[in-house]
Amino acid sequence: MSESDLLANILLTFGSRPGLRIWRSNVLVARDQSGRVVRAGVKGQADISGILAPSGRRIEIECKTAAGRQSPEQRRWQAMIEKYGGIYVLARSVDDVERALSAT
Ligand SMILES: [Mg+2]
Repeated sequence: MSESDLLANILLTFGSRPGLRIWRSNVLVARDQSGRVVRAGVKGQADISGILAPSGRRIEIECKTAAGRQSPEQRRWQAMIEKYGGIYVLARSVDDVERALSAT
């Protein structure tokens, strides 16, 4: 499965689950209408971000193919999220997210 298919499947599977809100989190560089460069997001942030009720814990989901590897920036993002008590999921399947949620 491609990373974009996995991402879409995760959003579809968990997008309406009670007690969980998740959203796409893009990192991008674009130009606005006047030609100015606009950057959005933080390099290394996960593909999907979210929040769990009632704890308010943050969840970050990095989607990867079976062969995909985290960049150094993504590993640093994971370390930061975990250090601050968030949940970081390196997801190679929808089931990986299900397992992580079951463990909370
Ligand atoms: Mg990814």
